[in-house]
Amino acid sequence: MRAAGVPAKSLPQAVARGQIVRFHRGCYCLPNTPVPIRAAVLFRGQAACVSALKLAGVALIEPVERPHVVLPMNRSLARPGIRPVEHAVIHYGNRGTALISDVASALDDAASCLPALAHLCAVDSALHKGLVVFEELDQLWRNDPVRGAWLRRYHRANAESPAETLARYALESAGFSTQVQARVGPDGRRDLVVAGSIVIEVDGYSSHGDKKSFIADRQMDRALRISGLDILRFAAVEVFDDPTVVPRAVRALLSERSARTMRPK
Ligand SMILES: [Zn+2]
Repeated sequence: MRAAGVPAKSLPQAVARGQIVRFHRGCYCLPNTPVPIRAAVLFRGQAACVSALKLAGVALIEPVERPHVVLPMNRSLARPGIRPVEHAVIHYGNRGTALISDVASALDDAASCLPALAHLCAVDSALHKGLVVFEELDQLWRNDPVRGAWLRRYHRANAESPAETLARYALESAGFSTQVQARVGPDGRRDLVVAGSIVIEVDGYSSHGDKKSFIADRQMDRALRISGLDILRFAAVEVFDDPTVVPRAVRALLSERSARTMRPK
């Protein structure tokens, strides 16, 4: 702010008026400046990892409790009293001068901070939103090649939500082959199709709570049934609680189908 010509003596008045916030000794920002950006300035680094992903709009299934910051490799935090180290998660890497890490590097950093499934959801979300492309991801995961190989096996660019990623992963790891955004039945694309004939829909409450969606869902269910397809609907919250609810339901439906064909007419 001093560089922008704001006189030092006017800063306390601006703080008192609530126009700016003093977040550390000698550090001021606008009140709506995100915490990870403040941390990046404070530590003279970049907002990184899950903080950078959140700022970029990548869907995260776990809350980000503390700002994640990346510092140059040669930076020492030997005087911990100077900056509140305990309030941030510190990564190291040489990343240039931008205040926010690029999305590919942030996904790479997140290998050490996110559990595997949460990481897969973040990668799928970044791919789906066009924030990274597969070629960029191929250059990553040098610090965690095991996680990298697992992500390469399961990540997809067409998963529309983390709940859909979790459902698909649960199905594939239970041995079911899946098609994502498959064209089956009337009027086109379905989120997830298993065994060529079972449509899986995972719905968030908010996206299906209005009258138009309510009617459209019923019309689609009827049309799928008439086309000989089965539909299994799950609330996103059910899938977040226990993704195996999806393969268990598919297995039950398939065994019911085979029992039906065996029954004497
Ligand atoms: Zn991190």
